[in-house]
Amino acid sequence: MPVLENISTLYTCAAAGGQNEIHPVKDAALAWDDGLVTWVGPRDDIPTSLRDEERLDAGGRLALPGLVDCHTHLAFGGWRADEFEMRCRGTDYLEIARAGGGIASTMRHTRAASADDLLTRSRGFLRRMARLGVTTVECKSGYGLTAEDELKLLRVYAQLKEEQDMEIVATFLGAHIVPPEFREDREGYIALLIDELMPRIAGEGLAEFCDVFVEETAFSAEEARRIFGASRRHGLRGKLHADQLSDTGGAALAAEIGAVSADHLEQSNDEGIRALVEAGVVAVCLPLASLYLNQPPMPARRFIEAGADVAVATDFNPGSAPTYDLPLALMLACTMSRMTPAEAVKGATILAARAIGREHRVGSLEPGKRADFILVEAESVNHWLYHFRPGAVSDTFIKGKRITS
Ligand SMILES: [Zn+2]
Repeated sequence: MPVLENISTLYTCAAAGGQNEIHPVKDAALAWDDGLVTWVGPRDDIPTSLRDEERLDAGGRLALPGLVDCHTHLAFGGWRADEFEMRCRGTDYLEIARAGGGIASTMRHTRAASADDLLTRSRGFLRRMARLGVTTVECKSGYGLTAEDELKLLRVYAQLKEEQDMEIVATFLGAHIVPPEFREDREGYIALLIDELMPRIAGEGLAEFCDVFVEETAFSAEEARRIFGASRRHGLRGKLHADQLSDTGGAALAAEIGAVSADHLEQSNDEGIRALVEAGVVAVCLPLASLYLNQPPMPARRFIEAGADVAVATDFNPGSAPTYDLPLALMLACTMSRMTPAEAVKGATILAARAIGREHRVGSLEPGKRADFILVEAESVNHWLYHFRPGAVSDTFIKGKRITS
């Protein structure tokens, strides 16, 4: 039962308290056994039963729970660096989408990719994410958009879940866009999602959540209601890409259907925010996408002041957020969305865990939770996100094991 000591400050990130309360413990120690935390507290209070156990030295670093990336599109084929250049020249995202680029372009590359290729690439992404401090990852399908290609993506996630110590959570995002071959038959595509795919996904246990992209170029609120009605019957809880490029009433819709989270919310109105708070829906802030698209960020401060729980994630995908750097997203959540560093950290730990139904298992350092934690070379979380630099997370432990590669 290893005991890690010489931690300058450990932040448990327990759920209690407001978004800014991350529960610091000075000169702390942490013990775990068989992959689970057994004890956490001030070093002076280490119980006598642990006095003779193996000691590890944190070197005076900070300790935090492993970070939870609660919104990624992990598996996809190809990249879209050419579109990046077009956007740098001033072409906007919707214009590119209307010309057959954007999600449709990644869809073609994803359909062409083999499951093995997608698996190898996803493993590489996960390895590098772990080095950045990420220990739990939500992964969405949504670039296949045929029955077989959506199942291919979800089976890649099932395989990763099987072989990785990282916590992997799969979300079905068949309702990402209507694929080109169904452009004249939206009803046909929705029927494919509801009547064919959902029963197979539920039958094989391939996803826990169903996500819908509610946007002018994707699905209407009314279509989303029907898709969520079906997903509920199959035991898949709802998540939404909402109010990203325009206010489509996505926040209110998330509240109405009892979604576990509503993500993006850059354009949400006050009524929508109030509805989210009342329904207890986690609001997910994705500042990397706002940065890459050069669009106004989610006003997280307004959400927090209204009483919402705000999570922060990367939205890692080949178009609007082609980086999986969650610490960078935390820094941007502070500078762009006006969250405090402590609020951002709580948003990428216990509140992110809540956004994917994992708050009982990960996201805080408390006895009984997974021993997923990181060591950070900084004086405080304020200093970490203020003097931002790569490599500040020096060590990542997953289930109590240090990641070495
Ligand atoms: Zn997304």
